[in-house]
Amino acid sequence: MASTHQQLLTTSVQFLKGIGEKRGDRLKEVGVEIILDLLYYFPRRYLDRSHITSIRDLQDDLSTTVVGRVQFFGIKKGKKSRFVLVLFDGTGYLNCVWFHRVQYWNKLFEKGETLAMSGKVTRYGDYQMVHPEFDRLNDSGDENFVNTGRIIPLYPSTEALSKVGLDSRGFRRVLREAVGGFAKELSETLPESLRQRHRLSGLRPAIEDVHFPHDRKSLAAARRRLKFDELFYLELMLAYRKRRVAVSQKGIEFSKVGDRTRKLIEFLPFELTAAQKRVIREIRDDMKKSTPMNRLVQGDVGSGKTVVALVTMMMALENGYQAALMVPTEILAEQHFLTMHELLEKIGVKVVLLVGGQPKKERDAILAAIKQGEAEIIVGTHALIQEAVAYHRLGVAIIDEQHRFGVMQRATLMEKGLSPDVLVMTATPIPRTLSMTLYGDLDVSIIDELPPGRKQVKTHWHSDKKRNRIYGFVKEQIEQGDQGYIVFPLIEESEKTDLQAAIENYEHLKSGLFKDYNVGLLHGRMKSDEKELVMAQFKAGEIHILVSTTVIEVGVDVPNATIMIVENAERFGLPQLHQLRGRVGRGEKKSYCFLIARYPISTDAKLRLETLVETNDGFKIAEVDLRLRGPGEFFGTQQSGLPQLRIADIVKDEELLVAAREEAFDIVMNDKHILNVENMPVRAHFFKNYRDKFELARVG
Ligand code: ADP
Ligand code: MG
Repeated sequence: MASTHQQLLTTSVQFLKGIGEKRGDRLKEVGVEIILDLLYYFPRRYLDRSHITSIRDLQDDLSTTVVGRVQFFGIKKGKKSRFVLVLFDGTGYLNCVWFHRVQYWNKLFEKGETLAMSGKVTRYGDYQMVHPEFDRLNDSGDENFVNTGRIIPLYPSTEALSKVGLDSRGFRRVLREAVGGFAKELSETLPESLRQRHRLSGLRPAIEDVHFPHDRKSLAAARRRLKFDELFYLELMLAYRKRRVAVSQKGIEFSKVGDRTRKLIEFLPFELTAAQKRVIREIRDDMKKSTPMNRLVQGDVGSGKTVVALVTMMMALENGYQAALMVPTEILAEQHFLTMHELLEKIGVKVVLLVGGQPKKERDAILAAIKQGEAEIIVGTHALIQEAVAYHRLGVAIIDEQHRFGVMQRATLMEKGLSPDVLVMTATPIPRTLSMTLYGDLDVSIIDELPPGRKQVKTHWHSDKKRNRIYGFVKEQIEQGDQGYIVFPLIEESEKTDLQAAIENYEHLKSGLFKDYNVGLLHGRMKSDEKELVMAQFKAGEIHILVSTTVIEVGVDVPNATIMIVENAERFGLPQLHQLRGRVGRGEKKSYCFLIARYPISTDAKLRLETLVETNDGFKIAEVDLRLRGPGEFFGTQQSGLPQLRIADIVKDEELLVAAREEAFDIVMNDKHILNVENMPVRAHFFKNYRDKFELARVG
């Protein structure tokens, strides 16, 4: 019966032979509590004949695995002590070396045991591997697996787990027990027909083979099946989340397009691009519907998202509602406010600015105007969703450049009893696979065209030895009437030393190289009105060089600025660098971006800088970033309330993701209560395992 199955699999892992309280506790720390968890504790990689190199055939710089017996080990004293272990595989000797914690390593191995050592081979007299990854292969049958063609699973472990014997080998033993005794209790989680459509194996053989595969082929089949499973349920959750928003929340039907919108478009100093027009149409169609809009607008830096936001907000106004535009920094809020104020005053729209640092009197007046509905467009930072703010009739909320927090902010608005249409705008292009997962429940519009006449920003990266030459060039440009930014890293406003460095450099430049010019300083710790003044002066061309921290990263728009210098560029992430570069190249003139890096530079940092030099295409940049950082960090999936993926990789498994998504959305469309007999496995599995996360994710 299903219930017995469930009981067996939900039994504590301590029920297994070889797992007592101590190991049970350690396992709990990595999320393994019941036998089912253990069955889903997948190998991190596998070892088979094809991965292994005989010591005789080793080459310099080769990354590989060597399997052999421990011949000798010990601590070599010297200027720097090191632990050396010599491995013999019948064809030769390999030195494995560790430079840290030599006492720890010295107690770890036994003479004669068989080990697999993985790492990069270097030549130091003999061949050696420094700090290799190792695995014990002492189980019966392991030793001559090279000859038998077996595949050995290697499990992830931690030091704490290793201490209680749960290294890779320990896990193999425990899993043999768990898989042998309990895999048969698993109930199928995917419908038969779906499995046939996608040629997916059953769950039980998949779990068995993922741990102890017979050959490469059965391993591939098992992994494919389990990946599909994971992606399918992820997408199913998103499909329901999307549906819930559509059905349960009554939105506003914005039906009128009025004169003021027409006038606004007329007053614009430019013609909208085809992409802007298309996206505006998509937004309008959403707004006319009675379900609330939940849309993401993606457009590279400089593609003109602000106007799209403006037109969207006008839609709300024309129908008697207010609109709010929320941005990540005060500087950006002020910028937007000024641009909008200038444009909208002519057509009689009242815009207000609400940010953290305003004097109480001013703030109270603004809050009153918002409450009475006198303020029609409200521009601000997260202050906009704070408790004190009561809206008269909020119709649209636009969240600019804060993709990460979009979901949360929507939730806060809903808690205030508001159910406005929501538009999230981002310049960080989200690779397709990610928008399908993280944003699977949002509709996506893409502005895939830059306004005409934009020139590529010429980008260089140099070591700081070249700084003088670069600054010299900057001086020449300024002589010709250009303006520029010099940006210093200050990732967190609280990092005092970074702030200090920026300020010192400012003083230095002002009284030194650029003493004949006006140099301005901008950072997050300055008072609102100080910041405002500096930005106004820079915009007016009175400041030639703006020394700044990353506060200018997004949104700032000064078309006459043509030079961007980023100091310590090796410390910035790819999207940040792309955003910073996006501050120039906004006008007719040729623009330059200099990334100045200080050695030593990691390989990843080098790749980031080279990517910037190579391309101006935000989409390509995002893809490199995703590859470098992995999907988890890329968008802070933790915050999204989505489950962590154990085996699937949303970048590499795009094809499976698309297929799984189609199947999942199909169920929600055609069998929304999951009552079809053939979908029973889905019903059981979904409600048992995904309900919690579903509740968590419902805010979207
Ligand atoms: P982003 O998408 O980075 O937010 P902005 O909205 O700040 O871009 O627009 C960048 C610059 O391009 C602004 O100076 C804006 O006035 C200008 N712009 C926007 N749309 C057009 C257009 N269709 N034609 C010409 N210039 C435009
Ligand atoms: Mg913008």
